[in-house]
Amino acid sequence: MKRPLLLFLFALAAANTASAQTIDSAFITSFERSNGMKTATFMETLDFYKRLSESFSTIVTGDLGPTDIGYPLRYVLYSSDSNFNKDDIKKEGRIVILINNDIHPGEPDGVDASMMLLRDAATRKIKVPKNVLLAVIPMYNLGGALNRGRSRPNQNGPESYGFRGNSRNLDLNRDFIKCDAGETIGLEDLFTKISPDIFIDNHVSDGADYQHVMTLLATQHDKLGGATGDYMYSTFTPLLYKDMKEKGYDMVPYVNDFDKTPETGWREFYESPRFSSGYAALFHILAYVPETHMLKPYKDRVNATYALMRSIIKQSAEHATEIKKARADDLAALAGKNDFALDWQADTTRCDSILFKGYEAAYKPSEVSGLPRLYYDHSKPFTKKIPFYDHFVPTKTVTAPKAYIIPKTWVSVISQLRNNGVNIHRFNRDTIMTVTAYHIDNYETTPHPYEKHYLHKNVQVTPNKISIRFYQGDYYISANQTAKRYLVETLEPTAPDAFFAWNYFDGILQQKEGYSSYVFEDIAADLLKKHPDLRKLLEEKKKNDPAFAADGNAQLDFVYKRSPYFEQSYLRYPVYRVETPNP
Ligand SMILES: [Zn+2]
Repeated sequence: MKRPLLLFLFALAAANTASAQTIDSAFITSFERSNGMKTATFMETLDFYKRLSESFSTIVTGDLGPTDIGYPLRYVLYSSDSNFNKDDIKKEGRIVILINNDIHPGEPDGVDASMMLLRDAATRKIKVPKNVLLAVIPMYNLGGALNRGRSRPNQNGPESYGFRGNSRNLDLNRDFIKCDAGETIGLEDLFTKISPDIFIDNHVSDGADYQHVMTLLATQHDKLGGATGDYMYSTFTPLLYKDMKEKGYDMVPYVNDFDKTPETGWREFYESPRFSSGYAALFHILAYVPETHMLKPYKDRVNATYALMRSIIKQSAEHATEIKKARADDLAALAGKNDFALDWQADTTRCDSILFKGYEAAYKPSEVSGLPRLYYDHSKPFTKKIPFYDHFVPTKTVTAPKAYIIPKTWVSVISQLRNNGVNIHRFNRDTIMTVTAYHIDNYETTPHPYEKHYLHKNVQVTPNKISIRFYQGDYYISANQTAKRYLVETLEPTAPDAFFAWNYFDGILQQKEGYSSYVFEDIAADLLKKHPDLRKLLEEKKKNDPAFAADGNAQLDFVYKRSPYFEQSYLRYPVYRVETPNP
């Protein structure tokens, strides 16, 4: 049966054609057939969901834009009453859960767990309540998934699996702001279309050895903030721990701090917006990154991932009203919220206590180097309370403007904003306005490429009030909208994951014109005669800076940079702030 491709444009799907009570042998996954030794390939996954959607009206599939390797990004939806109508889902307050798999294809646990989950939901082996809509990306990083091998030596299965980098060797879990990959653009498009309440991004850990099969990275609750952050921290996440414990999975928070063994505790992982869960937090979404322990057998890891997704579904169905209310309260509060934190750090004076089941770490001579090497002694398991530093404080805050104005030339930025559902208006005629323009005073740049970019950091700016002509077609973006936090954290250039940091505006960092000193000497002398205030500035600088006083070229440059000849665009950040409402 032909399925509609675009989400929510379809009405009810046609009546189902398969018996809902039996699991057709056609829907046994390769994971099950191999007794937990194998993970499905890309083609097996495609075929599985195609047949599932053809057999059950509760399942539909659709495609988003092309991934970097050319295949479209496919998603699958499950609704127990086959109602996928966007208005109904909103009106009835149904919880939308978005599940992503294989962002790191070397960590495919969620791929196999999601196949079983959706099949078991379709066949009614498990109950997914009517007030939950599931949206699943069966495989996200398709280029990586196709590049199969055994690239994770520290991992216990499956037999072969995909590679971390995508077809352009990008780590897609660093791409959520810079959006280099088609996968990211497709997924953010899906976020905009379905507006999830809960996001799950399935992974497998690296690092230390311990007894827990499942660890859970919850988006940092102080950073998520508001009613949603409070609810997640104090109620929802503890429910998941309780639920999983009852199923025999004692979870701990994702074991961070790779530079030491975990028995003395650790700080919660800080996921800035470049990460999937940090991105989701910009839209006030409860985000979870399940990280199974890489040394546990593949079968156990997949089963734990399945169990956790079921727990999240069960708890979100039971607490749909509270989740919806917390999110609605936070979105409503945005209009009156002006101060936004741009960066955070762990508060090392506060911690929670967690019960950690580890193995004693010890050292013995290495058979490779003869030098001491770390190992975890499985004959010495322990259980003890350890500190978990999961409270964060802002280190940098900015006040949101009333609006941002972006000249129409910055098309790639506008394209990201549109894909994220930002409401944008265009000037219908040339308009002169007084706005705040940032001068980029200073910044540092990483010396080596990081995910294809030379990232800027420690950016310092000075705000200046200027009058500027905007042109017909330039973009006026009110900050008072659902995407307010996304706007502030991407458009404020001092934010660690701002578009500026990710090189979107690097054109302004290079001076284009200059002068020949022997010509400009006479012009500068004339300027100083006509502008005693400039002369005064120069003399003061000479008095306070002996090196400057001894450097003729530096002094000439000082005058040039304060002359009408000096280019306005150099180091002027081209996203302008409107500080008062636009008349
Ligand atoms: Zn991962």
